[in-house]
Order: sequence, then structure tokens, then C-alpha cells
Amino acid sequence: MPVAVISPKGLRRLQKGHPWIFESDIKSTNLDQPGILEVFDTQGQLWGRGLYNPRSKISIRMMTTGATIDEALVAQRVQAAIAYRQRVCQGWNGFRVIHSESDGIPGLTVDKYTDYLVLQQHSAALEPFMPVILEGLQTYYQPKGILARNDSEVRKLEGLPQEVKVITGDVPEEIPFKEGEVTVLAAPYTGQKTGAFLDQRENHVYAGSLAKGKCLDVFSYHGGFALQLAKQATSVIALDSSAAALAHIERAATLNHLSNIQTLKGDAFNHLHDFVKKGQTFDTIVLDPPAFAKGRDQLENALSGYKDINIQALKLLHTGGVLITASCSYHLEEPTFYAMLGEAAADVSKQLRVLARRSQALCHPERFSMPETRYLKLAAFEVIDV
Ligand code: SAH
Repeated sequence: MPVAVISPKGLRRLQKGHPWIFESDIKSTNLDQPGILEVFDTQGQLWGRGLYNPRSKISIRMMTTGATIDEALVAQRVQAAIAYRQRVCQGWNGFRVIHSESDGIPGLTVDKYTDYLVLQQHSAALEPFMPVILEGLQTYYQPKGILARNDSEVRKLEGLPQEVKVITGDVPEEIPFKEGEVTVLAAPYTGQKTGAFLDQRENHVYAGSLAKGKCLDVFSYHGGFALQLAKQATSVIALDSSAAALAHIERAATLNHLSNIQTLKGDAFNHLHDFVKKGQTFDTIVLDPPAFAKGRDQLENALSGYKDINIQALKLLHTGGVLITASCSYHLEEPTFYAMLGEAAADVSKQLRVLARRSQALCHPERFSMPETRYLKLAAFEVIDV
């Protein structure tokens, strides 16, 4: 039987419920390829079973505290993930079905856009279980097609091939799905993540409820925010550096019969500074940048970037204006995010009423023992005169 013995430090993390064991915490193992192994402490006590990959820095991703990892267990995890979404995704036709460790299936994400499933599989040791996972998903959802969007860099590190391939049926280039009243477009083959930012879906709708007057959606991607704002706004500018992303907004605007959205291609920092220089103002601004900090070492630079865009946005808002501002960088912890926003407001002498402090969509559940799964922060503020 493949086994690993872990260090006291690794054991302490396990005892807190965190499911990762790093390379540096493995004292010995008799497995030299990806697979399932039993995890023991130095005293010979069994602590559970997990997925192992000798090539990965996160060497073991624990799946059980003792139970055998077999097809029946994996099938049961898929059923539990589906059952949770039945509870929290009522009325939505685009949502995440499986969210990796949060659903006890490390390395796998599966998103559903209407009748199609798009998956990303990042664990070599999980590969033998893919047939049973697909069977569970197919039996329940009966999708018209399943796409494996397996082109991420992580797969290379895991020793898995990078490929984008249809597993069953047909999957279109563009899939319209609903977020509240609005139709948005996912690009499963080429878009970011599996084609859309489902983790903001509830926040998109919430932002729409706050929208008024002249709106600006910065880092707009396919317009998850811009389209919702446009329902209530006089006008919306959707700003992004990607022409492909903006083309999706324009198509979605037509589908939604919205004629008040203007797309603007360019760099967010340059344009925000330029708007300020020209004395322009807006009534509602959304800032949803990509993760500026991809590692802890980048945090300082990232913070000055976040602060800069928030300062410029606040300068563009009068009293009564609304700022909706997000960060999806796990390394930027919630208290630091709010402290940065506090400094930005103080720097431009603005007082803010907190309208909401939110996180990621319920279909991306947080595993409480694993802070990495609590990554998205979104605050909504109103500029007040006090
Ligand atoms: N708000 C979107 C998701 C944004 S993802 C939603 O809710 O669906 C981040 C976006 O920022 C991407 O579309 C990317 O093209 C864009 N981007 C990254 N760097 C940028 C920059 N410097 N200026 C403008 N856009 C940028």
C-alpha cells in the first residue's frame, strides 16, 4: 500500500482541517508517481488518505480522514455537490457545480452554462476517477455537451497534457445564460476560467440594483456588471484591455436590447487618470480588477495598484455616487483590502457609507478550514457628505 509519513508541522495543519500537505512536510513515501496514498504521522498513526503528486509543491491533497478513496466515495461527493447546488442555485442556469476542495474533490472544477458543462481538471491522481465523475454529472444534468477546458499551466506542473476537448456531445463557441434578468455570454473554449466569472454572479445582480445615472464598469470582461448596470443607468462605459471581451459585451447588449452601453478598449490605469484629468464624473463605478497579487511576494505592488484605481474612482464620484469595488486576490486578505480602501478614501477626503461587504457566489462555497477558498471581496460604498 502506498504511504507517506508527514512531519509534525504538516500534521498540525492537518489537525486544523486544512487538506494540503506540502513537499517540505513529507518525511518519506514509497510512491514515486501520482496516486492515492495513506498518510501517517511519525508515530505510525493513520490520519487519512489523499491524492499524491511527487511533481507538485502541494504534494498531497487530502480527501478523507480515514475512509478509502474509491469510485463509490467519489460518486457520493459528486452527488453531494449537486445536492448543495439544488439548494442554492434555484432559478439560475449558470453556476459552478463542483468547486474543488470545497466539495471534497481536489483539483476539479465544473461549471454549468444552461445545457453545457465545462470542466477543469488539475490533479493527475484524480484522473482515474474522471469516468465515475462524468457519469454522475451526465446522469443528473443530461448535458448536451461537456467540454474539458484543460489548457492551464497547472496541468503542465502536474504532468498532465494541456488540451481543450469536447468529451461528449457538442459545445458551442459562445453560450448565452442568465444572471437575473440579463443574458450574458460565456466563451467556454477561449474565455477566462471556464468562459465566465460565475463567482461574481450574485454580485453582478446586486450591483445592478444600485446603479444610477452615468456608470463606469472598469475591467468589464464580458460585461457581467456593465449589462446589469445598463438596465437602470442612463449610460454605461465598459472598459477593458481585451478587444475579444468587449466584442462579447456588444453582442450581449444587442441580445438584451440595451443601447446605452459604450465599450472602451484600453488600460484601466491610464483611462482612470485621464478621466480625472479631464474633470469627468460618474454616478456609479465598478472596479473588478484581475488578481494583482498572484503570490504573497507581490502584495506590496498589488496594494499600490488597488489603491491607485480606488483613489481615481473616488475622485470621479460626487456626493451620492456609488463605488462597487472588488479584489479576487486571495493573498490580499479582507482586513488589508478594507484598510487600503480606508486609506484611499482618506487620501481624497471622502466619507463613505458602507452599503455592503460581500464575497463570492454561493456556488463557490468556502471551505472554512481553508482560507484559500475565501478569496473574493466586494464592497459597495456611497459617497456621503458628513
Ligand atoms: N468584471 C468581470 C471580470 C473581470 S476579469 C466580470 O464580473 O465578469 C478582469 C478583466 O480585466 C479581464 O477582462 C482583463 O482583460 C481585464 N484587464 C486586465 N488588466 C487590465 C488593464 N490594465 N486595463 C484594463 N483591463 C484589464
